[in-house]
Amino acid sequence: MAEGCVLCGATGTEVVSRTDRHGQPLMTVLCSGCGVLRNDPVPTAEELDRFYRKDYRESYKGATEPRLRQVWRNLERLKVHFIEFRDIYARGGDWLDLGAGSGEFTFLARHLGAEMTAVEPHEGYAAYCREKLGLDVAGRTLEECDFPEGRFDLIRLSHVLEHMRDPVASLSVLRGWLRPGGVLYIEVPNIEAEARNRLQGRLFHYGHIYNYNPLTLRHVAARAGLVEMPETAARCAGRCAAFFTADEGGLQADEALIANAARMREVMRGHNSRRLPEPEEGTVLGRFLRSMTARLREARAGQRMKTHRAIAEAAAADLERSLKQVMGRG
Ligand SMILES: [Zn+2]
Repeated sequence: MAEGCVLCGATGTEVVSRTDRHGQPLMTVLCSGCGVLRNDPVPTAEELDRFYRKDYRESYKGATEPRLRQVWRNLERLKVHFIEFRDIYARGGDWLDLGAGSGEFTFLARHLGAEMTAVEPHEGYAAYCREKLGLDVAGRTLEECDFPEGRFDLIRLSHVLEHMRDPVASLSVLRGWLRPGGVLYIEVPNIEAEARNRLQGRLFHYGHIYNYNPLTLRHVAARAGLVEMPETAARCAGRCAAFFTADEGGLQADEALIANAARMREVMRGHNSRRLPEPEEGTVLGRFLRSMTARLREARAGQRMKTHRAIAEAAAADLERSLKQVMGRG
């Protein structure tokens, strides 16, 4: 018997893909009630546990230790993020980085004075964080975490929620770990943007059980009693990333969910019927120049800094300088 959608309760689904991004068999369905895309069937907890502990990152990125260039890119993105949301991060306190990955957020946050707790289910990455970056990262899954209620001022969940087989239950647990007024930052890949921008068929992944767009991300959070913070809502509009606090009343109206399902149906129809992606913003020459500039900066950084730790230290110092500058300007 078909179970209702964990976001909206609807039982109607439509198949939108039968293969993963590598051409392997993987069924993905669109919920007719809200437009969230999910793997069908949703894997069991045991299947997932085995997958995340080892297979996932190795099959995905090819190595446990990230390449220097990837670390540099992650840090560059995070510097921009910390500056954009400096009003939130200036609050400080006890923070949890859940799914710390290769540790760049934890590294920078600790440098800015936050009391960091970091957890990463992939043992190879957790070990890398400890050995190469000097971070205290526990190799554990969410299910193995047992924090007291009200333990954290801020929880970061970046590129993790899409891996969760029961996102409402998992988010409810995280909400419980927040102090009154605490903040949960969630970021996931935007399946709507990817369907527009990627080559036909290069979308789905066994590990990404639920694929969200901006509306379904906010709705699933609301199901767990989390509402987007008004202070950051305009800055995060249209993104698959937002800051939430524990509150009621964030559910999307039924009409908005139905409209979102129609929108995602169209996006997937477009994706499945054309061989080439829709052009992104800007001209071909502009994109080329931007990517060349980024490559040159990476190459220069690579010549100066030979270790993961050195790149992270330099980024932390640079972020501190930049923050002082923008805060000084008010
Ligand atoms: Zn639904």
